[in-house]
Amino acid sequence: MNKAAAFRLRLLRRSLFRGEISSQPTALAAPAPLLHRRHYTFPWRAAEEAPGTTQRRLFHGIIKQSGRPPALAQAALLHRHHHTTPWRGELSSPTQGRLHRSSIKHYFSASARWVSSFWWWCKVAAAAACVNVLYSVVYHTYLVRVPYTSRTPYFRLETVPYTNRNHYVIRSPLDDRDYGESCFSMFKRNYPSTFISPLHPDSVRVNLITAQLLPAVQRGLDIKKRHAIESKKQGSRSCGSQPQITHLDGLDWEVFVMKNDGHACAVSWSNGKILVFTGLLNRLETDAEIAAVLAHEIAHLVARHWSELIIYKKWCPYPLKVYFVRRLEIEADRMGMLIMAAAGFDPRIAPVAAEKLVGNDIYHPSGKKRARLLSRAKVMDEALELYREVMSAKAPETHSATGA
Ligand SMILES: [Zn+2]
Repeated sequence: MNKAAAFRLRLLRRSLFRGEISSQPTALAAPAPLLHRRHYTFPWRAAEEAPGTTQRRLFHGIIKQSGRPPALAQAALLHRHHHTTPWRGELSSPTQGRLHRSSIKHYFSASARWVSSFWWWCKVAAAAACVNVLYSVVYHTYLVRVPYTSRTPYFRLETVPYTNRNHYVIRSPLDDRDYGESCFSMFKRNYPSTFISPLHPDSVRVNLITAQLLPAVQRGLDIKKRHAIESKKQGSRSCGSQPQITHLDGLDWEVFVMKNDGHACAVSWSNGKILVFTGLLNRLETDAEIAAVLAHEIAHLVARHWSELIIYKKWCPYPLKVYFVRRLEIEADRMGMLIMAAAGFDPRIAPVAAEKLVGNDIYHPSGKKRARLLSRAKVMDEALELYREVMSAKAPETHSATGA
């Protein structure tokens, strides 16, 4: 025997003699707090009474009094607490078996309880999502006042103009228009007296601005397409799939003004109708600011957001729905800024106008956030490039007009 082993043996003998450790395996088995927690006994009694003795006494007491073993549930309960088989009685000590584990195993068993609770919450969340989806299907099929009806099955991956984002749309452009028409006529029925006459100066003003913005949709796309082709020639990467705006062909665009000073916003429907509240006109000062808001509404239709929105409204649970709808709003802001730049309005006004808008619901980011996103260098540079090109193309025209 070497020196170290002899020293360890001497230590062990001394400890046994002094009673610091017990030669009983059950008393050695587990640390006191653990025994206390698992066995519901007192740790300071661990040395004189083996863990689990109280429970075993209780168990046998039940047998003595009732003359039969306790019910299966009680047995199972005891089994669970003791990690042993209670019907074995004295033959099996609670400390034999599962309690003889290393601290790492105990650690994992403790975290396993948390994991199981985590999975339980996952199941609850999944069930809630299913209920949400079922509810929205029932709501959109039976309860909603404007029924969602598709004449033709339509499910297509399309590219959003200006941003070149791919998105799925589940309605044909014609169905989109029908849906917008029914929603808009219902809106008009509900609020017939608040529409301002088309000859009112405010109506004339917004219609003139819209008339400037609509041709700019195609103009801006053409310029962007030309830039993409040029950059391709210079050896940059591909310009992506070509976006289309054929869904806007024959759309009957119309802008209305509604008397409501409390609302500082505009609304659009997929049939080309745009509604501006007088609250917005009071808040915004210049034509460029109004153009920014109108271009945002036009962008929703250019990007076919209505057809994409129905997917989120039907199938997404609430927080996801908010996230996706907000993403559409941000995209419409960016597209709107490009459209207004292509129409000859200074795009630097767009963040100013966005900041003046009050976030009217949870689906719209706050005005400050919208302004910040629009002011990003990458987004603003793109719009300014478009704006300068349009203005430089306009300059000779105005020069010749004034010269003539
Ligand atoms: Zn919007």
